[in-house]
Amino acid sequence: MTTIDGVAVYQHLIDGRERAAADGRTFEVRNPANGAWVARVAEGSAADVALAVGAAAAAFADGRWSRLPGRERYRILNRVADLLEAALPELATLESTCVGRPLRELRAQLGRLPEFYRYFAALARTYEDAVLPFEGPYHAYARRVPLGVVGQLTPWNHPLLILTKKLAPALAAGNTVVVKPSEYTPLTTLELARIAGEAGLPDGVLNVVTGFGAEAGAALCSDKRVRKLDLTGGTETGRVVAKLAGENLIRVTAELGGKAPVVVLPGADLDRAAAGATFAAFVASGQTCVAGTRVLVHEDDAGALLARMVTRARAIRVGDPLDPATQLGPLVSARQLERTERYVALGREEGATVACGGYRPGGALAGGFFYEPTIFADVRPSMRIAQDEIFGPVTCVLTYRNLDQAVQIANGIEFGLAASVWTSDAAAGMRFADRLECGIVWINDHHRIDPSLPWGGMKDSGMGRETGIDGYREYTQTKSTIVNLEEPVDWYATTEVVRLS
Ligand code: NDP
Repeated sequence: MTTIDGVAVYQHLIDGRERAAADGRTFEVRNPANGAWVARVAEGSAADVALAVGAAAAAFADGRWSRLPGRERYRILNRVADLLEAALPELATLESTCVGRPLRELRAQLGRLPEFYRYFAALARTYEDAVLPFEGPYHAYARRVPLGVVGQLTPWNHPLLILTKKLAPALAAGNTVVVKPSEYTPLTTLELARIAGEAGLPDGVLNVVTGFGAEAGAALCSDKRVRKLDLTGGTETGRVVAKLAGENLIRVTAELGGKAPVVVLPGADLDRAAAGATFAAFVASGQTCVAGTRVLVHEDDAGALLARMVTRARAIRVGDPLDPATQLGPLVSARQLERTERYVALGREEGATVACGGYRPGGALAGGFFYEPTIFADVRPSMRIAQDEIFGPVTCVLTYRNLDQAVQIANGIEFGLAASVWTSDAAAGMRFADRLECGIVWINDHHRIDPSLPWGGMKDSGMGRETGIDGYREYTQTKSTIVNLEEPVDWYATTEVVRLS
């Protein structure tokens, strides 16, 4: 990173070196809290992507990483975790400056990242392959081998967390990687790649091309040397990327949109449920795929729950994300702010009632993309605000008469990523969770993650799973080897019928 006229200039990171865009283009990254310039960044084209994929392909082919013993990958990934841990305070500030998320949230979130590298480092060291019950005088085994060059497309809402969920298993399994981060938030991705190089990751194993999805992202998805694509983003982008992967017959993991229900069962503690529902909705200003944005409550409890949620939402401190006291920062971009405003207007037109929020704060916050935490009441399940992913600080309260109807509302949507169930009866919570069509369900909690947890959605929320042993397997393929332990059959030397298996 260099500085020109006091503004940081970031380049691509290809084959262990910083590189300007082939055609010299750059774009700006701005702070969403105040519009100030943060950096200029190389704008990637197909030529830059081709160079990065070439570097990753060469690194894979010569085995500098893919054929290292698991214990060496274990050692280097643990070193990545250690250096990352040491750099977290600066990374949290940089990420907060680009995303607008409050520092207090980012400190908590980023504090978990080293665990992911350590967990997958341990898998590189301990994963056990299979010896198969192959019939006859044979020893047959199936080993998991890496895929080759993988392309990772990451969004702006949790740049380092989402990258880490993809990168740690990909590297542990021995792949080489080209990342295209969101154009809003590429800086911490470049910093992480630099840290990985310092930790001993060989050149060319992790490459970052910055730029826009339509150009650099599309070039990465079309390059025939790439063996897997891994995207977190909107459902429409998921369809585009999956089509390109289909054309090249390569794997795709896609973690897409969501509209998580927060189901409050009869008899639940309403104070706890209200605290959980506001946490579910407003963390990251609602810009998260598992945001709890449909609160389903029994009609007898609705008034009491809504009153508690409104009191809590009004008390949330909106402000400068770098102030440690701030609880809600701005949205990431003018586009997300406009989208939120559009949906709030639509909700009013559809006949829902704004119980709190529903406006941009003024005064000192008027220059940023801030929006007040907003709760809609009188929402019907068919309303657009109850069906579409808004990706802003907006949640809806819906009522049900019985549990069958609650299941119907919870599942009556194209998404199937996550849900939470709030209850004072754990068994009832588990019975209800079993009926939900989604990949992740929390009971009496929301948003909690762990490297061991398979993460991903059903229906239009995506395909494949990140993290956990499933996530590791998705970055490998099996290779079966069959060893004949006896004299080989001379098929053409005899007229007798021999068994082949
Ligand atoms: P996108 O789905 O457009 O972006 C996700 C990533 O994919 C980014 O790196 C993006 O690049 C890249 N990308 C975009 N188009 C292409 C393409 N044609 N080929 C290859 N890569 C591409 O998210 P948006 O930022 O546009 O957000 C839109 C909506 O998506 C949000 O409002 C939200 O509803 C949802 N979303 C969901 C996320 C989740 O966690 N599931 C995360 C982010 C968004 P670039 O951004 O540089 O163009």
